[in-house]
Amino acid sequence: MHDDSPLRVLNRVFGFERFRGAQAEIIDLVISGGDALVLMPTGGGKSLCYQIPALLRPGTAIVISPLIALMQDQVDALRQFGVRAAFLNSSLSLEQARQVERQLIAGSLDLLYIAPERLLTERFQTLLDRIPLALFAIDEAHCVSKWGHDFRPEYIQLDLLHTRWPQVPRLALTATADTPTRNEIITRLQLEQAQHFVSSFDRPNIRYRIVQKANARQQLLSFLRREHHEDAGIVYCLSRRRVEETAQFLTQKGVIALPYHAGLDADTRRRHQLRFLREDGVIMVATIAFGMGIDKPDVRFVAHLDLPKSLEAYYQETGRAGRDGQPANAWLAYGLGDVVMLRRMIEGSDADEQFKRLELRKLDGMLGFCETSECRRQVLLNYFGETLPTPCGNCDTCLEPVATWDGTTAAQMALSCIYRTGQRFGAGYLADVLLGTDSDRIRQFGHDRVSTFGIGKVVDGQPMTVGQWRSIYRQLVTAGWIAVDLEGHGALRLTEQSRPLLRGEQSIRLRRDPERKTTRATRAAA
Ligand code: ADP
Ligand code: ZN
Repeated sequence: MHDDSPLRVLNRVFGFERFRGAQAEIIDLVISGGDALVLMPTGGGKSLCYQIPALLRPGTAIVISPLIALMQDQVDALRQFGVRAAFLNSSLSLEQARQVERQLIAGSLDLLYIAPERLLTERFQTLLDRIPLALFAIDEAHCVSKWGHDFRPEYIQLDLLHTRWPQVPRLALTATADTPTRNEIITRLQLEQAQHFVSSFDRPNIRYRIVQKANARQQLLSFLRREHHEDAGIVYCLSRRRVEETAQFLTQKGVIALPYHAGLDADTRRRHQLRFLREDGVIMVATIAFGMGIDKPDVRFVAHLDLPKSLEAYYQETGRAGRDGQPANAWLAYGLGDVVMLRRMIEGSDADEQFKRLELRKLDGMLGFCETSECRRQVLLNYFGETLPTPCGNCDTCLEPVATWDGTTAAQMALSCIYRTGQRFGAGYLADVLLGTDSDRIRQFGHDRVSTFGIGKVVDGQPMTVGQWRSIYRQLVTAGWIAVDLEGHGALRLTEQSRPLLRGEQSIRLRRDPERKTTRATRAAA
């Protein structure tokens, strides 16, 4: 096989006609002994980038992967193509592992998948010293980043590959890496000499859409009934309880919806996953525990009932829609409550300050995406360091442009209402004060007598609603003009940043969210 060309191997072994994107270039580089950093979205075809050189270079290719659960599948798939592959991880018995090691030494493996902790043992490294090595592939290379959500301490030590076997070409592959993470991969893995291959992360067939959360479950149901009758899809929720409740709700409404989260026993999880993969029109309601390595091409939508923590997470989760290239929807319901909860989760965690700051910055990226009045795809791709020259025409802001307005007066009212009521209340209460709502609670606090009571019924000649005031508060929070007091149950308070606005030294533009009917019930849910 060794005097074959990459293309012939692609045709004959894998049965594919032609290379995609940068595959051919990457493969040529690695075959000639070069290092590569490969950034490709999920489903982009990273595996062939090391599998084909593995077949064309003498020796065995070592693939380091943290996803133990997927190794078996990958190896099975390769064996079906007639490739001599095996894996080594903690799921094997001692005897099975010894058997694989014997094959390795005998030179009868083209590829060996291995978990990083095993690679780091001196025993295994001594073994590798005895055999010819085709290459090292470091899959999910972003796991080396201390600041990422998938950090694996063992990955940090993978620089030894370079120190110990400097002759062997290396590929680092990942689907998620913003610029700082990319740089971290390069320095930590000593990939300074590597050539970079960054594919576009654009998924043009996915339509991005964000709605203002009112009664999220009901909104989801309408969305499903309107656009996804009998389609397969995934609904993400943040907590196990929300998963259970939502699955139940959908089931009651006649939708086939199955829960999936880490609190369910392994058997139930497997059963639900199989039904999702094999039956038509099954909706998986899941926490983020679901999805890694799920290869179902015809997922027609991914819906979020809770805000993801970062744009990386959002991109990865929505990326599970429309792998077949057919139109798909990414739909998200978002409200101030999400922002408050995520801020609280981050600030209340045991992580160190630097980590929290980074998490908050990532959350800000997510919020910027939600609040933008520009093309969502442009904002999303820009976050990954990519420029889309023109608006995409396939996201909500492109399809229904958002009006913006001079919100300076309204923002001043909103801020001064926070101040007058003692910085102890949330957006719903403040909105009621601004609108001069007759309520026992307001009278009890004497806030029917503050100067801001009722001043927000009309702004610049426009009558205002609770929904609009909520939207204003949400925008002020996400833009950092006001802070959420996490000890005070989401009370809003002023910050240094609020001052220029209050003093009239600064004006701001706000997006005008489409007005919706607001009832008591939907307000409670928002
Ligand atoms: P990634 O690891 O980047 O998520 P994979 O390597 O698993 O992606 O590839 C995704 C899918 O695309 C797989 O089913 C794979 O067989 C297929 N694929 C990859 N490259 C090609 C190609 N050149 N032609 C056709 N199909 C391909
Ligand atoms: Zn767009």
